[in-house]
Amino acid sequence: MDCLFCKIIDHSIKSNIIYEDETLLAFDDIRPQAPQHKLIIPKRHIETINELTEDDANLVGQMVLTAKQIAKDLGIDQDGFRLVFNCNRHGGQEVYHIHLHLLGGRQMHWPPG
Ligand code: 5GP
Ligand code: ZN
Repeated sequence: MDCLFCKIIDHSIKSNIIYEDETLLAFDDIRPQAPQHKLIIPKRHIETINELTEDDANLVGQMVLTAKQIAKDLGIDQDGFRLVFNCNRHGGQEVYHIHLHLLGGRQMHWPPG
């Protein structure tokens, strides 16, 4: 399968991995949009949020809880941070393997671009 993030999971593409367990991987975004910009992904290939089912509720919960823990470890939990899932074209999705963006270390703005 020609998926960039599956290649990061199997280490055929290099990345700076900051967390790994049986189901998830987290690593630095290659083009950071904030002083801290991490991506949390499932090891299972899921193309978009639209493909999620009830069976994935625990997986998605684990992604959010892992992001929370990473934010704490980075020391940005109290100042705050942003979690983002982009879905399809209007959402600005570029890589079709779901990923949770963790952004922090600066003031975020609203509405997003
Ligand atoms: P999307 O726009 O799909 O929500 O986000 C994809 C993210 O993946 C972007 O923030 C982009 O910078 C990041 N990205 C793209 N290619 C690579 C890569 O080869 N390595 C890493 N670490 N991140 C990447
Ligand atoms: Zn994939």
